[in-house]
Amino acid sequence: MPGIELFGQEERKEIMDVLETGILFRYNHEDQRNGHWKAKTFEKELAEYHGVRFAHLTTSGTTADNLALAACGIGFGDEVIVPTFTFIAPVEAVLQAGAIPVFADIDDTLCLSVSSIEAVITPRTKAVLLVHMCGAMAQIDAIADLCKRQGIILIEDTAQALGASFNGKKLGTYGKVAVYSFDFFKMVTAGEGGAIITDDPGIYEIASQHADHGHTHTGTNRGAEPHNIIGTNFRISELHAAVGLAQFRKLPYMLEKQRADKSLLEKFLSGYPQIRLRNIPDRKGDSATFLDFFLESEEITRLVLKGFDEQGLGYAYWYDNNYHYLRNWDHLKHLKSAAVLPIACLEPPQDYATISVPGSDKIMSCLVSVPIKVRWTEADLRVVMEKMESSFETAFNKSF
Ligand SMILES: *Cc1c(COP(=O)(O)O)cnc(C)c1O
Repeated sequence: MPGIELFGQEERKEIMDVLETGILFRYNHEDQRNGHWKAKTFEKELAEYHGVRFAHLTTSGTTADNLALAACGIGFGDEVIVPTFTFIAPVEAVLQAGAIPVFADIDDTLCLSVSSIEAVITPRTKAVLLVHMCGAMAQIDAIADLCKRQGIILIEDTAQALGASFNGKKLGTYGKVAVYSFDFFKMVTAGEGGAIITDDPGIYEIASQHADHGHTHTGTNRGAEPHNIIGTNFRISELHAAVGLAQFRKLPYMLEKQRADKSLLEKFLSGYPQIRLRNIPDRKGDSATFLDFFLESEEITRLVLKGFDEQGLGYAYWYDNNYHYLRNWDHLKHLKSAAVLPIACLEPPQDYATISVPGSDKIMSCLVSVPIKVRWTEADLRVVMEKMESSFETAFNKSF
C-alpha cells in the first residue's frame, strides 16, 4: 500500500515539530505550541482539497464511521443500508450505534447499486452507508439522486477512495458526510487515524462535540466549556495528525503514479477475452489503488490464483477474506459480541443467520484484485505482467 511506501523526511519533520514542544494534544496550549497545529492544519487541507467547508479528524476510520452516524442522528432502531462487500468497520459502527444494518447486493462496480438499494428500502430506512470499494466509485450520481428522492441520508465511506472523483467532483462530496481512514494500510496513513468531511455546519458542530465529550471548543479554559450533548473521545493526537499531514501532501504524486501504472496493466489485460475489467463509472477519477478484474467462473479464478501463488504475485481474493465479505461473517450472522448489542431488542428485516446473497456471490467469486504499488519501476511492472501472463496461460489451457 502506497502511504507507507513513501514514509520519509517529510513525515519525520512534521513529527519533530510536535516533539520539540511536547504538545501532543490537538486543542489549546497556544503559548507553548510554537505555532504548530497539526490536526487543525490537516483538517483545513483535507477540507480544501474536497472543496467542502469542514473536516474533523478522529482516531480511526472506524470511529469516523461511528461519528458520521452519530452526527446524522442515526441511532436506536434506525435501518442503515450497507453493502455485502465492505471492510467490516462500517457495519460494526451501525451495530454500535444501536441501528440495524440492512445488507444490499453489490454489482460489477463492486459497490451498492440503485436497484440493490431500492430492493431493501423500508419505511424505517434512515440512511445508506455507501462504501466506495478498492479505490473507485459507485454509480454515485444515480445513488445520490435516489437518496434525495426518497429522503434518505447518504453517508459515503470513502476510506478506500481518497483522491477519487466522479465527473470531476470528488467522492465524499456527494453525501451529507463522508468518512476517511488513515490506518497503516491506507493510501495516506497516519499510523492510525480517520476523518469525516462535510459541507454542513450543523453536522460538523455535532461531530466535533461528539468526538470530544461534548466540548464546544470555545475559549481557552477546557473545563469551563459548555456541553450541550453527551459525547465520547475520538480525538486524534498531534503526533498521528503530523504523520497524516505529511502523507496527505504526497497524494497528488501517488495518484498520478498509480493511475499511469494501472492503465498499462489494464491495457495488458484487455488482450484477454476471458477477462473482464471492473465496471468503473468514471475511469479517469479512479484512485487506482487496485487492479480489479473478473474471470469467467469461480473455478477458473481459483486456477489463476494458484498460478499467482506459485509465481509469488500479490493479490486479494475477497470472496475468501474474513473481514471484507458477508459470506465469512459468522460472528455477525449470530450476533456474537463482547456484550449484548441493542439490536438484540430489535426486529431486523433480514434474518442474518440465514441471509443469502447469490447476486453478490456470483460477482465476488470471480473477482481478483491486485494491489498497485506506488514504487513500482518499469522493470517491476514488466515482471508483474509476466507473472500474470504465465498464470493465465496455465489456467486457460487447463480449463478449455
Ligand atoms: C479501513 C476502512 C475503515 C476503517 O478504518 P480504520 O482506520 O482501520 O478503523 C472503514 N471503512 C472502510 C471502507 C475501510 O476500508
